[in-house]
Amino acid sequence: MDKIIYLDNAATSPMNNETLYGVIAYMSENYGNASTSYSLGRRAKKTLERSRNTIADSLKCNPEGVYFTSGGTESDNMLIKGLAKTHKGKHIITSCIEHPAVLNTCKELEKDGYSVTYLPVNGVGRIDTEQLEKAITEDTCLITIMTANNEIGTVEPIEEIVRIGHKHNIVVHSDMVQAIGHIPLNINDLELDSFSCSGHKFGSPKGVGIAYIKPGIDCDPLIFGGGQENGLRSGTENVPNIAGMAIALSYATRNIKGYKSKMESLRQRFLNNLGSRPYMINGSKGYRLPGLLSISFPNVDGENLKLYLDTKGICVSNGSACHSGSIEPSHVLKAIGTPDKYINGTIRISFGNNSLQDIDYVADCIKEYLRKVNKNEISRE
Ligand code: PLP
Repeated sequence: MDKIIYLDNAATSPMNNETLYGVIAYMSENYGNASTSYSLGRRAKKTLERSRNTIADSLKCNPEGVYFTSGGTESDNMLIKGLAKTHKGKHIITSCIEHPAVLNTCKELEKDGYSVTYLPVNGVGRIDTEQLEKAITEDTCLITIMTANNEIGTVEPIEEIVRIGHKHNIVVHSDMVQAIGHIPLNINDLELDSFSCSGHKFGSPKGVGIAYIKPGIDCDPLIFGGGQENGLRSGTENVPNIAGMAIALSYATRNIKGYKSKMESLRQRFLNNLGSRPYMINGSKGYRLPGLLSISFPNVDGENLKLYLDTKGICVSNGSACHSGSIEPSHVLKAIGTPDKYINGTIRISFGNNSLQDIDYVADCIKEYLRKVNKNEISRE
């Protein structure tokens, strides 16, 4: 296969060798069911518990609160529904720029009689914590606000959100799918009650994630069955992928400083190379994920640009890959007020294991595309 320059790590990320070999070993040799009591099963159970501890060490949270799931979507569904049901009240507060895993779960709860406040965000995608506090009513049972946005990379004031929630005795959940493995996090210090995590966003296999619930907080299960994971998430545990997720998370959190400086240098190199072309960057300058860049070009079709880059071996996204296929303008870009002439010309570049030469090539290809559009060699639509 020709070389691929992969710049869509916010959609999913490749495994490094340490993780890959770990997963293979658990698939080929350590294939027992963790619920069986003979030695192969006990070995799988040990792997499961070791992985739980590694994850808790990496995120500074309590291993007893770590429940393994199939990924971010399931964790958001389980935690939002499960926490809403077990806490008094029928009002939920979230933000209007959440991932569909949160927004559509809230919409489902609305059908069950819950009311939901969708907080607006400012021009860079941050909620206003004063508005959050004003939105709280006697009936509020849950606050669910993401830590980092998947389309524009903006990081929300999560410490303040937790502080306000707890001041009013309200349980606080956060979708941390894009944040985990990308920015330093200390869940115990944050005093967050619950978060969701997806392995494939930081170099683990797909189809595995975490639902975290601070011990002592009640939550109903979403999936019923054989009572695995303390009865909160039934189903035979995916031990190889869980072990892979623990290896990947431990690697990512140990290397988080180096990762940040590498991401910053790739991003800066890209922007320097793009030169003086008209563009706008979406999201916050100061509160953002280091590896994610949402950039909009005026009067350009982002889908076409993405496909053009694909012909050059470059993978980027023009929205959130989790709901691509839909040609609706992004709800996040609309919420931050991206002007009409820019909104369709948006691509999301999420850096990873790229070289500076790769980045130079990508910037050159984009400049070439923009030149062709200007000369009408490529249609604007
Ligand atoms: N939440 C956010 C912020 C995401 O970016 C995604 C996926 O992109 C999800 C939830 C869903 O995660 P998963 O793909 O593991 O279901």
